[in-house]
Amino acid sequence: MEIFADVVVDINIKSVDRVFLYRVPEHLKGRVAAGSRVTVPFGKGNRELGGIVVAVSDQKDESVAAPKDILSVSGDLPPASAQLIRLAGWMRSRYGCTMVQALKTVMPVRKPVKERVQVNYYLTDEAAARQVYEKIKGSKRERARARMLGAMLDSGDGSISRETAAGILRISSSTIRSLLSAGLIREESRQIVRNPSGLLPSRWGRVQLNPEQTEAVDQIMASWDRMQETVRQGGRASSRDMVHLLYGVTGSGKTEVYMELMDRVLSQGRQVIMLIPEISLTLQTVTRFYERFGDRIAVMNSRLSAGERYDQYMKARRGQASIMIGPRSALFTSFEDLGLIIIDEEHEPAYKSESSPKYLARDAAIQRAKLAGAMVVLGSATPSLSSYYKARTGAYSLHRLTTRARQGSLLPGVDVVDLREEFKRKNMSPISGPLREAMDQCLAQGSQIMLFINRRGFAGFVSCRSCGYVFKCRHCDVSMTIHGDGILRCHYCGSEQRMPKVCPSCGSPYIAGFGMGTEKLETLVKKEFPKARVLRLDRDTASGKGEMDAILEKFSEGQADILIGTQMIVKGHDFNRVSLVGIIAADLSMFSGSYLSSERTFQLLTQAAGRAGRGSRPGRVIIQTYRPDEACIRFAAAQDYEAFYEQEIRFRQAMHYPPVSQMLMISIESRSDQEAAQAGAGIRGCIDREIKRQREDGEQGLIQVMGPSRAGIRKVRDIYRYVIYVKNDSRQSAFSIKNAVEAFADRRSGDFRHTYIGTDLDPYQLF
Ligand code: ADP
Ligand code: ZN
Ligand code: ZN
Repeated sequence: MEIFADVVVDINIKSVDRVFLYRVPEHLKGRVAAGSRVTVPFGKGNRELGGIVVAVSDQKDESVAAPKDILSVSGDLPPASAQLIRLAGWMRSRYGCTMVQALKTVMPVRKPVKERVQVNYYLTDEAAARQVYEKIKGSKRERARARMLGAMLDSGDGSISRETAAGILRISSSTIRSLLSAGLIREESRQIVRNPSGLLPSRWGRVQLNPEQTEAVDQIMASWDRMQETVRQGGRASSRDMVHLLYGVTGSGKTEVYMELMDRVLSQGRQVIMLIPEISLTLQTVTRFYERFGDRIAVMNSRLSAGERYDQYMKARRGQASIMIGPRSALFTSFEDLGLIIIDEEHEPAYKSESSPKYLARDAAIQRAKLAGAMVVLGSATPSLSSYYKARTGAYSLHRLTTRARQGSLLPGVDVVDLREEFKRKNMSPISGPLREAMDQCLAQGSQIMLFINRRGFAGFVSCRSCGYVFKCRHCDVSMTIHGDGILRCHYCGSEQRMPKVCPSCGSPYIAGFGMGTEKLETLVKKEFPKARVLRLDRDTASGKGEMDAILEKFSEGQADILIGTQMIVKGHDFNRVSLVGIIAADLSMFSGSYLSSERTFQLLTQAAGRAGRGSRPGRVIIQTYRPDEACIRFAAAQDYEAFYEQEIRFRQAMHYPPVSQMLMISIESRSDQEAAQAGAGIRGCIDREIKRQREDGEQGLIQVMGPSRAGIRKVRDIYRYVIYVKNDSRQSAFSIKNAVEAFADRRSGDFRHTYIGTDLDPYQLF
């Protein structure tokens, strides 16, 4: 019998974006399946190209006279399941990418680095190990060794797999080597897969869910039962049963709800994918899941090496793990019986892919759930406007957790400090009077403080206090930041210039760094609070593997009084000794001036405030701002999401912004300003023609084109940037406009050689 395969060839060109039929030669029979990576001869010259098999059949498509033979198949990689290939098909039609791009996205593990065998580690002598563990467990320098031994001692049979050590516990291979050479553990390869249900006893004991948590779990599980019933009867589950939004204030116990749901779904033999933004995927977070679910967990994160990622992938694929925890790409774990996808902090911009296909994890998750008969639970203290809108209009189910879960923990009180008043009082310090008082009080009581400043890098921008002139980079349309050494530096391109003595615009000598960066703030805080122990967390102090964990762990162990940091300190951490959070400059993220900026500012402020008072001491938050009347700041201070939502959704409705309407963003980037402007004008013409065509076809909804205009940051690294926005009531119409623009870009690529034209149907980061 002859076997044929439909192959998508690995060239990213729309004109060949379809399947090609190939014959599976005798010697490859049985090795080619949907998802296999193959090499095939292509075109007239029979150029050898890579490809991905999307279907295999013994029926020949009669329209192809003589299909060529597949040349080879890369045998090591397990083929993706049919479900993921269908998901790729959906991505292609929803986001307008090529099938190859979509397939590569749903098959994120490229290829095994080398043949890896399964490795387990065993304690050689439990008593000896326990002795060593007791000795080193408090030591700072032997943290990793202690973590490894502790987990092995807890595991029941004194063993641990290499996947768990690397993925969950973040143990480096050098730590393992040192334990091996000390004779404390031994290594065994090619062990039979261990019973994945061998659970760890929870070290903290399980919490008793409170009534709100219980109700959320019960309602979601009732939906689950309804879904199963509907499917049994051959029907399609309703989207309200399938998608749930868990809106719970910071510290309300969402994670406990997730874990309970996971437990229930797992007990029915189904698997779970849990998405957590990379930045929150800390050891602290993962350990919490590990303590409850033990070795059934696999973890993906970008710190893992290619080989370690492959191990995690295989752990899930072999059925050895039934929970995958990871960032966006963990969504494509090939579980055969997926029952539940959880997206924690669902509002996070990190869930949006910025390369083609520019998918949103939330939408892709819902699609995958549809294919798998699974449920999706979205969780956040500050839901994206879009998700909340869908929950309010009935597309998703909504569940609320309104109070903090831990006994005695209350939402913090928030005060707003008007920085203009501070300036009038001649207080030039970034720390206002009220914040300083609160810090003194806090330090005297021995509780911890977090200072949040939304500016990565070193210092704020430099401007003239007399006329407002801002120093900008020559190559980029961004302000320069000042460094400790008196040099102005651009964070986009790295170029430098010496700080001048007087303002180039008005000659005033009053030029100074405005606002603050983390580093400058650190210096200042150390000077003003000489007795306090200060830690700083930003991309400069934690760039490499494990550094972020180390800093967070130090702080959570109480080895510092003050933690200064960027976004990295806001996201989902649970420090129970923090009683004061200071937000140094709430205005910083509002400067972006897009329709998304007030949503982002609200989220950031609320999340930052949510770090305070998670333990038993009452928490306090001080928000410093130049614009205390701004709605997003007022509502964040009042911690009133609903009020913020009501106001913001009315604005979006009035202005036809998402989630009420569609928004297509077209970005134009070019070395030549003139060429970019020409391309922009050409695209505008093309859009207008397409709209005319649609109108003639009877399209009646709103379509509004803005631009081309210069982008918010008009130039980066001497590349000029323009943008066109198209607001649209209909996704179909927006999609057709996107296609027309892409066709135009292809057709005119010879004329606009120096220009890159990008399109995005769900923009998250505005240009
Ligand atoms: P969220 O994910 O909403 O921020 P967490 O699940 O991290 O909240 O819970 C915050 C804190 O409250 C954690 O320390 C957690 O152990 C505790 N907690 C959660 N649920 C309960 C409960 N029902 N009873 C007691 N403590 C709880
Ligand atoms: Zn000036
Ligand atoms: Zn620059």
